[in-house]
Amino acid sequence: MSRRRQIYEGKAKILYEGPEPGTIIQYFKDDATAFNAQKKGTINGKGVLNNRISEHIFTRLNHIGVPNHFIRRLNMREQLVRQVEIVPIEVIVRNVAAGTLSKRLGIEEGTPLPRTLIEYCLKDDALGDPLIAEEHIACFGWASQEEMNEIADMAIRVNDFMSGLFSAINIRLIDFKLEFGRIWDGDFSRLILADEISPDGCRLWDMDSNEKLDKDRFRRDLGGEVEAYQEVARRLGLLPEGDENEVLDLEQHRKKRGK
Ligand code: 5GP
Repeated sequence: MSRRRQIYEGKAKILYEGPEPGTIIQYFKDDATAFNAQKKGTINGKGVLNNRISEHIFTRLNHIGVPNHFIRRLNMREQLVRQVEIVPIEVIVRNVAAGTLSKRLGIEEGTPLPRTLIEYCLKDDALGDPLIAEEHIACFGWASQEEMNEIADMAIRVNDFMSGLFSAINIRLIDFKLEFGRIWDGDFSRLILADEISPDGCRLWDMDSNEKLDKDRFRRDLGGEVEAYQEVARRLGLLPEGDENEVLDLEQHRKKRGK
């Protein structure tokens, strides 16, 4: 097999040049980082699960008309996506207080918010992805006002869809992060949803027990990370019927079958 050209290596993914112009291959790693990469580790099988979960959510979002970069899953750890120019903003959507919102404003974790809150952070690892206001985005030209309106509209649609998707499997969607990208056609661009949607970038709590089924298990040293991600995949119907074996067994099994 010819070596593919690596474009970028991030904390949880590697991007390779895709087979056709305008495409990229996203490879999902098992590496996990938290607190601006001050905490590092590996969650065996995470990449396989995130690839599958993100495929599922992006495919469903496509069905309801939320444009996104996903083209198709290639194998257990890779998916083909459209190449975009990433908007350098992390869009955080919150339904329930948790994480940095709770810390910053002294609101107890688990307190439902009176309305959905959208926050923006600058995508800049060196600065620790600082919280920014729309004023900063306009002032520094990171996105136009038209783009920001579109981002907010899409974020709300994604939130409505995902809240329903997860509540149907007894999971409360506390908050999540989205990233958007531009696709250029001459001088004109349009925005689509990019990156990934997985338990790495969402807070997902079991509706009855409030058990955390997301990356907070790693961030807070709770253990059972892969089991939590697997539980999300299982409830979404993404693991083989009647086979709740370790996801790595699944990867080995597929490898043997050459898929
Ligand atoms: P918080 O600001 O409370 O740490 O995070 C809010 C939500 O956005 C959480 O669901 C968290 O997983 C997600 N999030 C925020 N920043 C990042 C990031 O840099 N990477 C990932 N994977 N998720 C993030």
